[in-house]
Amino acid sequence: MEPAYKDKPHCMNGYPLNVLKFSDDDKIIIQNEELKEMLQHPKVKFRKIVPFSIIGAYRKGKSFLLDYCLRYLYAHYPSINCPNLINPDNWMGAKDEPLRGFSWRSGATRDTTGIIVWSDVFLHNCEMTGEKIAIIVMDTQGLFDTLTTATGNSRIFALGTLISSIQVLNLSGVVQEDQLQYLQFATEFAKFAAADKNELNAKPFQNLMFLVRDWVNWKDHDYGLEGGSTYLNTFLEIKPHQKDELKSVRQFIKESFEELTCSLLPHPGDRVIGNKKNQQMYDGNWGEMDEEFVKELAILIDHLLKPERLVLKKVNQNKLQAAEYFGYLDEYFHLFQS
Ligand code: GDP
Ligand code: MG
Repeated sequence: MEPAYKDKPHCMNGYPLNVLKFSDDDKIIIQNEELKEMLQHPKVKFRKIVPFSIIGAYRKGKSFLLDYCLRYLYAHYPSINCPNLINPDNWMGAKDEPLRGFSWRSGATRDTTGIIVWSDVFLHNCEMTGEKIAIIVMDTQGLFDTLTTATGNSRIFALGTLISSIQVLNLSGVVQEDQLQYLQFATEFAKFAAADKNELNAKPFQNLMFLVRDWVNWKDHDYGLEGGSTYLNTFLEIKPHQKDELKSVRQFIKESFEELTCSLLPHPGDRVIGNKKNQQMYDGNWGEMDEEFVKELAILIDHLLKPERLVLKKVNQNKLQAAEYFGYLDEYFHLFQS
């Protein structure tokens, strides 16, 4: 069915801010003046913050997914730059609407490495609690990237974990043992950095979703969250005969996050990845994706970003306000720089 507002594309009034990047000799460069302004905006600074982030290797469809997340956010929440909502019930918009937002497809160069924040802030007032909330969106890149060194990678993942409350770990194909070990390593790093702020026994970090792209084993575990949940149980299960090392990785991950979920996405179709027969530039529209992928994409994004699922960023059980959050973030950026 063609949406009625076909000629009215989404308001997407924002741009990507590369707030942290690596120099050629792997030093961290911080450029967060605009981020500071954004978080200290009078309509934002006293709101509780929900930092939503995605992390993973480059060219695995992270920015592509985030751009659909932005479409969802602009349709469901007023923002500083776009106070009016366009048809939330049909948030994916027209079939042929080109995808805009974080630049995607251009990941072959290193300039997308680091932390990139969308410059607009989404606002929500929670009906149940009366809390005023600000949502920000971050694209984090570097993990498993062959060009970035292992220390750079774990630093960036640790930072992503420290500064978000909903984090998506974007993986391709399957969850591998070395990725779990990597996750443990980075999370240990983050725990260590936050040690002075967190109570000893509380879980220091909030939601982590393992998002597996191009899932092919749907006969074993179906697409989506339910299949993801049974798959998660298989790869995080601690078995008596397992080596101690494998047990402890799993134990550690479980103890570090308040909520662990997993979702399995089908392959998006040839048009999205480009093939020899079809060389014409693809603009990211959903009309040319496989139907099953579109369906699962919509369910996934709604699950991640609907009002009931928003998770406020907590540090040592305190919910951070946006302005405070900037101070927290700046502190970590500088800590990791040194
Ligand atoms: P990023 O570097 O991880 O941010 O990846 P991009 O979002 O820039 O996407 C890289 C390429 O992957 C683009 O050509 C996308 O069209 C394509 N892509 C998007 N989603 C998927 C997916 O689920 N699977 C595959 N195989 N490719 C995808
Ligand atoms: Mg990207």
